[in-house]
Amino acid sequence: MSATKLIVGNWKMNGLLADSKARAQQLGSAVAATKDAVFDMVLCPPATMIGAVIDVLAGSSVQCGGQDCHTEPSGAYTGNISAAMLKDMGCTHVIVGHSERRQYHAETNSLIAAKAAAAHAAGLVAIICVGETDAERTAGQADSVVAAQLAESIPLSATSENTAVAYEPVWAIGTGKTASADDIRQMHAHIRAKVSEKVTSGGAQIKLLYGGSVKAANAAEILHIAHVDGVLVGGASLAADDFIAIAKASAG
Ligand code: PEP
Repeated sequence: MSATKLIVGNWKMNGLLADSKARAQQLGSAVAATKDAVFDMVLCPPATMIGAVIDVLAGSSVQCGGQDCHTEPSGAYTGNISAAMLKDMGCTHVIVGHSERRQYHAETNSLIAAKAAAAHAAGLVAIICVGETDAERTAGQADSVVAAQLAESIPLSATSENTAVAYEPVWAIGTGKTASADDIRQMHAHIRAKVSEKVTSGGAQIKLLYGGSVKAANAAEILHIAHVDGVLVGGASLAADDFIAIAKASAG
């Protein structure tokens, strides 16, 4: 288990400038006041707020990431944002392959691998999301679905430095249903084995995050399961007090 946990907040399509800046400010101050920090925090605001959030976080250890990127560095792709643009803004990370992108934008594993490779080329850490649906779990296919997503969504450029993998069972995202500790333990061991096979350059050190209805009340248990190196948090990352409580649960 890695000592420093990676705590990522995915704000999704929520917030306007004033409340986003206030939340970032509160988190930056709370992290600065935390002694013996055993976590790294990354905030992923909507793209329109990234510049303002980065300005607020100046001098703080809290980092900023995008929620998605295009496969190309520039070009005629109206409405899209490239990894190079995120890097240029000051981002350090980008989420790719979130289940909401897979579901609402029909993103495939191969597209996600290309986005992750673009993130690597731009100097960003790609947080590659995988996870089975409720129907797939019920059918006993969770392991095989996740194995296929890992095999096809992680590009050859992945290393322990430029990649994290987030296991987010689709049925646990935004539903209040969290996977059981045993399910997380079993799946993270499975993911560790597959990632170690696939990524010859430090696969055993790639940070594996859990995501799906993580909150202050369950964070400590989840963060101390073997092969859980951090969490990707949606809803609870929109309240600074809750999110800092989740991050502090990394200790111990
Ligand atoms: C997410 O969107 O990545 C997520 C895990 O959401 P929530 O924490 O709200 O389930």
